[in-house]
Amino acid sequence: MIGDATLYRNIGQLLTMNPLAQNQKDAFAMIPRAFLIVDQGRVASIGSAHEEPSRWTGPVVDCGGCLISPGLVDAHTHLLYSGHRADEVAMRAKGKTYLEILNAGGGILSTVQKTRQASDEELTYLLQQRLACALQHGSTTVEVKTGYDLTVSGEYRMLQLLRSVQNTAPTRLVSTCLAAHAVPEEYRGQSAEYLAWLAQELLPKIGDLADFVDIFCEPGVFSVEESRSYLTAAQALGFKVKLHVDELADGHGAQLAAWLGAVSADHCAMTGQAGISAMAQAGTTAVLLPGTAGYLHHGGMPPARSMIEANLSVAIGSDGNPGSSPTEALSMLMPWAASWLNLLPEEVWAGVTIMGARALALDDRGALVPGKLADFVIWDTDDYCYPCYHYGVNLVKEVYVGGQRAM
Ligand SMILES: [Zn+2]
Repeated sequence: MIGDATLYRNIGQLLTMNPLAQNQKDAFAMIPRAFLIVDQGRVASIGSAHEEPSRWTGPVVDCGGCLISPGLVDAHTHLLYSGHRADEVAMRAKGKTYLEILNAGGGILSTVQKTRQASDEELTYLLQQRLACALQHGSTTVEVKTGYDLTVSGEYRMLQLLRSVQNTAPTRLVSTCLAAHAVPEEYRGQSAEYLAWLAQELLPKIGDLADFVDIFCEPGVFSVEESRSYLTAAQALGFKVKLHVDELADGHGAQLAAWLGAVSADHCAMTGQAGISAMAQAGTTAVLLPGTAGYLHHGGMPPARSMIEANLSVAIGSDGNPGSSPTEALSMLMPWAASWLNLLPEEVWAGVTIMGARALALDDRGALVPGKLADFVIWDTDDYCYPCYHYGVNLVKEVYVGGQRAM
């Protein structure tokens, strides 16, 4: 027995994943009929039931033959906002496109208005509620972006709120500065001037309030050249970078992500073969957001199969946000990731665990092998294919963060 370690026994399937995986093809690993020992918040030991310690005097949890997976790592959300946009359902049904709604003052800009007016207390409460919902659905690490204020002082306020929630929420939070989410009303038609303002006034002040700096690189929003100079300035200040690219058109954002050595390029719905090859060479992880592509129904699903064939690391994110993917539950998207992206269950699991961690440059989670954080989920099934199959209901039974029962 190790210290006051806990033995989890009678595990039907233990998804350990392979932290040394080069890419999706060798990322999945599973032990049938397994045990797991957790000590001081980390995984101490794993193995087959027949190797289980026979004289165990510490605490024991009987897992009832259920599936255990690493806690899900949601590498892409925008959960810090006020207000909702349920009115856009009807607008889309009448044929309005994403960019048409944006240009009419709806979309991101309407959320910006409500978020600017919201108090610190309201925004903190809303984010805590959403993180609790994410946790109930199995996400133990959630990346959250700013980007619904779009002023220097307001974006700084959002980063401070993320940090304060990070210190109190049971969910582990990764903070990303996405002040370059959209061009604010005040800078309409002046995207380069807006970015120059951010680069001069905001980026140097962020310090350790953000783990990443991100930009919405898309034709009609921020161009490749504008994104290159903004993110180069961020890198010069020591920030790791990630980008929204090629969501609505192949604007060669993926090539820019590779050129910058970005940790991840996200969306990639329209990324072509040249972008895929560039990302594979640079080791940039693709974060695919099938919920958004499906919800907006604008045609393009990311070329996930081509990416995996090209040896890319592919994460699956929820893109939780009030417009194009109103959800906190990454696990609810697993059947759609499988179906819409033509992924095997093994590939989906890699995408929501180890590859999600890779997309956040975190090597201490997303796998259940000795030394990793004891963040894990007990599922109401004994078959890892089941959460990629049964949709629309929550299959999570229990969630542990750092070895502590979180729900
Ligand atoms: Zn996004």
